[in-house]
Amino acid sequence: MTRDEAGTLDAKDPLSHFRSRFHFPDRNLIYLDGNSLGRLPINTAPEVDRHLNDEWGDRLIRGWNEGWMELPFRLGDKIGQLIGAQSGETVVADSTSVNLFKLAAAACLTQRPRTKIVTDDLNFPSDHYVLQGLKTLLPSLEIVVIRSSDGVHGPVEELVSAIDDQTAVVTLSHTVFKSGFVYDMAPINRRARQVGALTLWDLSHSVGSVPVNLGDTGADLAVGCTYKYLNGGPGSPAFLYVNDHHQRLLANPVSGWMGQTRPFDFELTYQGAPGITHFLTGTPSVVALKTLEPGLDVVLEAGMPALRSKSLVQTEALRTLWENRLQGLGFAFNSPQDAECRGSHVSLGHAEAYRIDLALINEMGVLPDFRAPDNIRIGIAPLYTRHVDVVDAVDRLCTVVESKAYEKYSRTADGVT
Ligand SMILES: *Cc1c(COP(=O)(O)O)cnc(C)c1O
Repeated sequence: MTRDEAGTLDAKDPLSHFRSRFHFPDRNLIYLDGNSLGRLPINTAPEVDRHLNDEWGDRLIRGWNEGWMELPFRLGDKIGQLIGAQSGETVVADSTSVNLFKLAAAACLTQRPRTKIVTDDLNFPSDHYVLQGLKTLLPSLEIVVIRSSDGVHGPVEELVSAIDDQTAVVTLSHTVFKSGFVYDMAPINRRARQVGALTLWDLSHSVGSVPVNLGDTGADLAVGCTYKYLNGGPGSPAFLYVNDHHQRLLANPVSGWMGQTRPFDFELTYQGAPGITHFLTGTPSVVALKTLEPGLDVVLEAGMPALRSKSLVQTEALRTLWENRLQGLGFAFNSPQDAECRGSHVSLGHAEAYRIDLALINEMGVLPDFRAPDNIRIGIAPLYTRHVDVVDAVDRLCTVVESKAYEKYSRTADGVT
């Protein structure tokens, strides 16, 4: 794609007006990290300000009965529209890691005497840590980690054959954080159902970027995060999904008063509320929920089909630019070549990735991120990434490598990358 072609695509892009819904304090910065922290929507600050002054400030504790208590469910249902859930199957609470713990533990407890958890080595490290922590409580658990043969594609066939009648749970990242590989859920869900295993999907890199249909593909459980493609703000609360059929069977092991039948009776014996409610634990983080909603609304307004088709054009442009320009400069394409199983970010491997990343950020006005040991991750957020941004970013990447501008930086990593 040339810059002119990119400009033509931008001019007829049906999503182009969504760019004006976001805060752009630095017009020259090409932000390619919307998959790690989405941009600030224009509506967020006024909405939060209104909440603080009019709701907290004026209404004080009366606010709980004027909409705050419903927020985890109301926003959960909005997210549910993006992931193929029915109303009442999704709730917003806690962080992704905590929700994963709650659902993995709930699943392993009901699935006893089954002891196997099946996952892969492309799964997010925190997900592995959560499973390892769960094993300290349930030592009979066996965590089976299926390895990807190339570090890019999920080991689909090996996973399917590892799922057996001893498997309690299969848990995977639907879109892999490093390579951007996207699993086809249906065959894995089907196999799990055949042998009575439960599936638990981490949708953190999928929600708002690739189509997901938990209901139609027969998924059981899911979790995901809202500060990436949903633009919910730093550390905005995560969500969890429990298929309606399982809500009665699964018990939340972190049982707290927000999941109690009547929390304000202050009964001393826990009795889980019906439906999705008993997967809540403590008091909802109201300010953070208010911060999340405007970003989520923009995604809903744009709609997944339009977002996905623009994202595919842009990651495909990155692939052809890699083929024509970056490959010759020592870059590897560490994401699927096949667009159908590629999410909305692309990883470019280079022996000098870390220093190139620093030069891009410090000198070139391009902000991607770096994932150890040697990946520059380019996140496409179709709500605000233009086609010319993709072409310009690749141009600047070439400049950094050809001019060896990266050589003045140290190889030692520090801080958030
Ligand atoms: C970003 C991300 C998380 C984040 O987990 P938190 O507990 O919210 O910090 C979890 N899983 C995956 C796959 C992610 O991409």
